[in-house]
Amino acid sequence: MHSLGAKSYLTDDEIELQRMARRFMENEVAAATPEMEATGMLSMELMREMGRLGLLGTFFPEKYGGGGFTITSRAIVSEEMARINAGLDISIFADIVLFARAIARHGTEEQKQKYLEPVLRGEKIGSMAITEPKGGSDALSARSQARRDGDDYIVNGHKIFITNSPVADFILVIARTDGKDREINGGTWFILERGVDGLSTSKPFEKLGMKSSPTGEVFIDNVRVPAENILGEVNRGFYYLMESLDVERVLEGASNIGIAQACLDAAAKYAQERVVFGKRISQYQLIQEKIAEMATGIELSRTMLYRLMRAVEREEVVTCEAAMLKLYSSRMAVQASSDAIQIFGGNGYMEEYPVARYYRDAKHHEIGAGTTEIQKIIIAREILKQYGSA
Ligand SMILES: Cc1cc2nc3c(=O)[nH]c(=O)nc-3n(C[C@H](O)[C@H](O)[C@H](O)COP(=O)(O)OP(=O)(O)OC[C@H]3O[C@@H](n4cnc5c(N)ncnc54)[C@H](O)[C@@H]3O)c2cc1C
Repeated sequence: MHSLGAKSYLTDDEIELQRMARRFMENEVAAATPEMEATGMLSMELMREMGRLGLLGTFFPEKYGGGGFTITSRAIVSEEMARINAGLDISIFADIVLFARAIARHGTEEQKQKYLEPVLRGEKIGSMAITEPKGGSDALSARSQARRDGDDYIVNGHKIFITNSPVADFILVIARTDGKDREINGGTWFILERGVDGLSTSKPFEKLGMKSSPTGEVFIDNVRVPAENILGEVNRGFYYLMESLDVERVLEGASNIGIAQACLDAAAKYAQERVVFGKRISQYQLIQEKIAEMATGIELSRTMLYRLMRAVEREEVVTCEAAMLKLYSSRMAVQASSDAIQIFGGNGYMEEYPVARYYRDAKHHEIGAGTTEIQKIIIAREILKQYGSA
């Protein structure tokens, strides 16, 4: 399936993980997908099974139930998962990369035991709430506020488009505790547990795609948060957010590659079966061009993804390259899904075939975790810095 042998960029243990993940996705996740797409809900049975097999916590310390791999393992699992169900993949992205990784990086020992371990076992679901109705691109202008009251904080706010929030057991919320609007200093993360007074979530939104993943609103109305539910240092929250964005963007590349690979797998097979004007359509050069473009985009994105994952492992700063990968691979996946539909003709427009879902799902990655426009702004800013100030 992959033109470049995985051996050129993965270790033997990672190849083994990739094989195991692929088997699980092609069997269990594929079987559960129609129901998750129809109900818009995660399958908790599937989550627990992934927890049991170690597919959720691959890169976390074994002490907390993780697999002890490097973070590259998340890219491997994500690529395989998004190839079968990109909606499930963004839910696990929110659960594992956004929520659990933040707890692992900034949490106390008690917080890790209480929140990280059940999430890695697939028994509890986490989510991370940054975006507000007034806008997501400008995260520093978050209006949610928290004020101190004795040893506690009282948090108020409204978050929107939050992956997993309709079902999440734990919601990590950022609110301003100090500083002026748009100041990087003065944001704090609070770990809110479902059931606390004043916390409620909406029902899932009806969405264009990523239907297996529930997305909703979070309403925070005078929620009293004890000191032990503050994540990391007070007022450092926006710094933590900015520090984690690069890795999140690199990892979104894996999801784009998974979607595009699914498009190529489906389209190449279909093109070799479909006969029009007495010939298989794979023999027509206009169809071959689409296959060639898809395969090239996938290969370029995958090569960059694993190069950046190794750089992330070495803790190198990859701000510009992460934005480039997100920009390029999300556009590539949208184009691949459009071309796949074209190759399928009328069948491509029908829900009976999976390419319509790939098309809807791919569009998300030009918006979530920073839009295409924001990636271009970051790339231009970083490049212009190299030539003096922008
Ligand atoms: C399915 C889904 C799941 C999501 N999950 C989460 C989640 O789990 N947690 C979370 O916090 N958020 C989540 N989001 C929110 C997502 O991160 C935001 O939608 C995204 O950051 C864009 O913010 P916005 O929607 O407010 O758009 P806006 O910020 O209002 O932007 C609107 C348009 O203006 C453009 N724009 C903005 N600023 C500029 C500029 N300076 N120059 C040029 N153009 C500009 C944008 O690129 C965009 O095209 C999710 C979104 C979706 C769709």
